[in-house]
Amino acid sequence: MTSILPGKIALEEHFATEETLMDSAGFVPEDHWPELKSRLLDIQDRRLRLMDQHGIERMILSLNAPAVQAIPDARRANDIARRANDVLAAEVSKRPNRFSAFAALPMQDPDLATRELERCITQLGFKGALVNGFSQVGDGDTMAYYDLRQYWPFWQAVERLDVPFYLHPRNPLPAHARIYEGHSWLMGPTWAFGQETAVHALRLMGSGLFDTHPRLTIILGHMGEGLPYSMWRIDNHNAWVKHPPRHKAKKRIADYFHANFFLTTSGNFHTQTLIDAILEIGADRILFSTDWPFENVDHAADWFDAASISENDRLKIGRLNAVRLFKLEASSETERTIAAQ
Ligand code: MN
Repeated sequence: MTSILPGKIALEEHFATEETLMDSAGFVPEDHWPELKSRLLDIQDRRLRLMDQHGIERMILSLNAPAVQAIPDARRANDIARRANDVLAAEVSKRPNRFSAFAALPMQDPDLATRELERCITQLGFKGALVNGFSQVGDGDTMAYYDLRQYWPFWQAVERLDVPFYLHPRNPLPAHARIYEGHSWLMGPTWAFGQETAVHALRLMGSGLFDTHPRLTIILGHMGEGLPYSMWRIDNHNAWVKHPPRHKAKKRIADYFHANFFLTTSGNFHTQTLIDAILEIGADRILFSTDWPFENVDHAADWFDAASISENDRLKIGRLNAVRLFKLEASSETERTIAAQ
């Protein structure tokens, strides 16, 4: 029996409103839907008991996926995002010492997204935003990725507000997922989520966004969506070739990955993977998370509390990095010292 690390903070933890609930229905077999549904709609009851049982002091909550990102009509996307953010703010206010919030954003319209982010941060006390990959725009079959120029004013606002942006997965649209035809088992967490999100993150890094806005912080779940394992190869590509294809950014991709990204352990409870992530990005940039309710809190916490890493790293990843990143209240003088570094 290993001991539980108390005071953990988890930040890829989802809920749904009645309006977004059905977006999650396809991710489990039909006979599991009643269970997932009840997990998604609960915040103050079973979720809290699980947190108590497994040493999780705080969850930073976010809306399910793809939800707002799958609504091509920007006005409607904005309405649903605002209502979900208001619901979440009310829930967090019931237990502000146990819950915090990430904003859902109507990224279909960069102006509306900027306004909603500002509202959530300055008026509702949210800790950042969590966005579910590209947004569908226009006819619904067009994907807007956030390295595009129209998003740069939005990123300027994110940098000014000084809050992290969690880039959460979604599946590719059917017309752009032909490689998976006949292999629907590869959709979702198995493979397509990671592929989709890793490419989106690389687009951000290669666009030069972080040269213009060097203080941006992007969070990736699932131990970095495979990126730590591939980082060296991305920059090395055929080093003997004189003129390899270039991206627009000034530095190596790895430089942005190390300076502008944090990773979480959500849904990837494997020590070999964690150690690779530590070796690539460092224990100061990894954060514990579960991915409740799509994964089990006990699976995440039991694995993490016993994983073969140093106790110092366990404390950083389980708690201290989040205290620092989200400017949360430190629980001791030692923590205050570490958080101030
Ligand atoms: Mn998730």
